[in-house]
Amino acid sequence: MKSVCSNCFQEVELPDDAAGSAVSCPACGAQFTAEPSKPCRHCGALNPKSATRCVKCGKSVIGISIRKPGTAPAPAAPVQETPAPAEEAPKPVHPLAPFANTE
Ligand SMILES: [Zn+2]
Ligand SMILES: [Zn+2]
Repeated sequence: MKSVCSNCFQEVELPDDAAGSAVSCPACGAQFTAEPSKPCRHCGALNPKSATRCVKCGKSVIGISIRKPGTAPAPAAPVQETPAPAEEAPKPVHPLAPFANTE
């Protein structure tokens, strides 16, 4: 994933599982929490998830949803509760019913 240093706004490529952990910025050495960056809808610049204004154009980046690659957006539909059908024990085969014709 691409993250953005919260100190110098340098784009940093990080493994996806680094999200939420503290990493050191290769550019300025500052420690910041790795989180997927969100692109500015105005100029396309990547911003830290916690940013409220674009680091480039200064416009608000609040409300931009981050879609992680490879993860489909979770459907908001409520989970339907389907009662599990009463599991009946399999009926024993009738002893008189032949399985196959053995003529
Ligand atoms: Zn930095
Ligand atoms: Zn921008």
